[in-house]
Amino acid sequence: MTITAPSGTTTDTLLDFSDVAMRFDNGVTALSGVDLQVRPGEFVTVVGPSGCGKSTLLRIASGLETASEGTVSVATKRIGYVFQDATLLPWRTVQKNVELLAELNGRSKEERRKDAEAAIELVGLTGFESSLPKQLSGGMRMRTSLARSLTLDPELFLFDEPFGALDEISRERLNDELLRIFIEQKFAGLFITHSVSEAVYLSTRVVVMSGRPGRIVRTFDVPFPMPRDPEIRYSSEFAELVGEVSHALREGHR
Ligand code: ADP
Repeated sequence: MTITAPSGTTTDTLLDFSDVAMRFDNGVTALSGVDLQVRPGEFVTVVGPSGCGKSTLLRIASGLETASEGTVSVATKRIGYVFQDATLLPWRTVQKNVELLAELNGRSKEERRKDAEAAIELVGLTGFESSLPKQLSGGMRMRTSLARSLTLDPELFLFDEPFGALDEISRERLNDELLRIFIEQKFAGLFITHSVSEAVYLSTRVVVMSGRPGRIVRTFDVPFPMPRDPEIRYSSEFAELVGEVSHALREGHR
């Protein structure tokens, strides 16, 4: 298996998986024959049953894990990664948590402060810079986590079910904010979720995976224009597409 990571320049395809398989040492095959491309301007969401290999796919994309077969090309080093848990340091304020990655990258204090302030504003947390994680709601903690990754100015942004633990209203609000940031910051997104309606609402493309070993069983282009009208969620076209994706998910699970 090969990984190519040329300079941070934008190319036609930011992420290219070709016939990727993942077999762990314990004999578990998590992924099989996965072909997936993510290009600039795309927001691709992966839905699939638990344990089918979705997180493994993101870990391979980020370079945390190496695929056992196939080719993985990642054409940028500017990769953001947000997990289901906000993974904040409890003793650090919002400002200091958001500065963390820039600090680890050795950026100057002044640059860190400015980048963090801009990211905090982007996620709507201005005024909460001095708060500690325990003083924040789940949604605000997730915004802090998003802001921390945004300081990297990602070209490719990986999301591992970031809003799965939130109540529906917070989740919908964060979906709208994430789409606004996606349009403003022009990153490409690869997003994992269990929620089919969240997948359809956020994405330009929805990829449905089968049960383990995860294979791509269907791909749906989402025809609704960006910026996306929040009211689209209540339209019959939206419900129809959610129905089709859910159906493919059930078929792939058999
Ligand atoms: P998903 O995100 O779709 O729920 P995962 O990618 O987390 O699935 O896991 C896919 C399968 O691979 C699961 O059966 C999991 O137990 C297994 N798995 C994940 N990571 C490892 C590992 N490091 N070693 C062995 N098995 C693993």
